[in-house]
Amino acid sequence: MIDSHCHLDQSYFGEERAAILARAREAGVTAFVCVGVGRGSGAAEEAAAIAAAEPDVFATVGVHPHDTAEATEEHWATYARLARVPRVVGIGETGLDYHYEHAPREVQQQAYRRSIALARAAGLPVVSHVRDAHADAAAILREEAGGLPGVIHCFTGGVAEARAYLDLGQVLSFSGIVTFKNAGNVREAAAFAPLDRILIETDAPYLAPVPHRGGRNEPAYIVETLKVLAGLRGISPAELDAATTENTRKLFRLAARDPLLD
Ligand SMILES: [Zn+2]
Repeated sequence: MIDSHCHLDQSYFGEERAAILARAREAGVTAFVCVGVGRGSGAAEEAAAIAAAEPDVFATVGVHPHDTAEATEEHWATYARLARVPRVVGIGETGLDYHYEHAPREVQQQAYRRSIALARAAGLPVVSHVRDAHADAAAILREEAGGLPGVIHCFTGGVAEARAYLDLGQVLSFSGIVTFKNAGNVREAAAFAPLDRILIETDAPYLAPVPHRGGRNEPAYIVETLKVLAGLRGISPAELDAATTENTRKLFRLAARDPLLD
């Protein structure tokens, strides 16, 4: 399995990161996409450093929609510089969050457009976080991201939203939310999306799947999401693992970044 979206910052896991990576490898995780957002450009720098140090970790860099009001030109210059680092494989997570609305909507939209432009310039896929903002996010992707590969991470919509993003050439990543019995919409979308267009992720340390729900999440728990998603789709976990692993490698071009993975 590949955890296509996790946060491995020291601020979340302290000195435990090595143990957490070891537990995940033991559970069958063969690669991690460590999303570096937060603390200005601090988390981006940290994610790139982890990816440089760990052979199975790759990084993305960018500004989370929550933090867009505090993004400075200096931060943007750092994201652009890090986008050229070999083991940095994507830009984000960027996008729109109207649920918390920590930054004004127009500021989030502007940063989303700028992040997509950065991804295009660097030749990297874009990682989108969208919460209660599917129509606006799809409109921005339609205007800015034609032909640019990307993923809607921790997908929270239903079948209609899934179809809109798929039509725009995006893939969908499913998190522990699919293990929540009350997430009917998301579970329907998870069963609907084509097998070659879906990824799995933990979004650790957030959104722990059942039976760890409510606790701190970590990449080893991705196996719970794999099992439930396979059940929803009526296929074996092994088949889903093979497909999502291949899809993740293709989106982030992991084999090109690290021949050892091929
Ligand atoms: Zn995240």
